[in-house]
Amino acid sequence: MLDYKAYIFDLDDTLYCEHEYVKSGFKAVAEEIASQSNYSINDVYPQLLAMWKESGRGKIFDDVCKMMNIELDIAHLVDVYRSNKPIISLYEDAQVFLNFLKEERVKAALITDGNSLMQWSKIKALNLEGRFDCIVVTGDLGSDFWKPHELPYKKVVECLNMSYEQCVYIGDNPNKDFITASKLGMGTVRIIRDVGDHMKLTLSKEYEADRNIYSLLELIDK
Ligand SMILES: [Mg+2]
Repeated sequence: MLDYKAYIFDLDDTLYCEHEYVKSGFKAVAEEIASQSNYSINDVYPQLLAMWKESGRGKIFDDVCKMMNIELDIAHLVDVYRSNKPIISLYEDAQVFLNFLKEERVKAALITDGNSLMQWSKIKALNLEGRFDCIVVTGDLGSDFWKPHELPYKKVVECLNMSYEQCVYIGDNPNKDFITASKLGMGTVRIIRDVGDHMKLTLSKEYEADRNIYSLLELIDK
């Protein structure tokens, strides 16, 4: 019924919409800026969104504070953003597919890149801790070991007690999600969502997945 013995997932834009996380963090930052200035949240939040749309992630807090003539410690705002308890939820197909794997007693795991504090707060907000047989947040390993380094894949496959060939990695970002998984012998699946930074990206064959899907439910053979 399923092609693999174990399903290993990326987190951001694979299981939930990362833009929702960013917006949730911006709300917390807007609240903080409002509490320390004469502006209201409704003044600040739209400015953060507009700056994000205009120039992407990077120096949004700097730029908005400068534009609104607010002097605040930017490092503190970054802390507020990172330590925010996000309001996010799983994509519906992710919810259904993870439940399906559990019912079928198929192993599932997570490999996610990013700042440890942020990634673990997403995992907690999505209530994912009990759902996976193994979770690797590469931020816990150090920045040298983020995808596409082979260590996180190795760790998870060992932890699941599987061979690489029995596992598939499912992610959204061809820059880093599939190249190493493929080299190690794992299957690879690219999920293409309606929203996300990498959805329209096409790279050379070695970076792309074996298969592209638009819903995780396509992985269940009917
Ligand atoms: Mg991702």
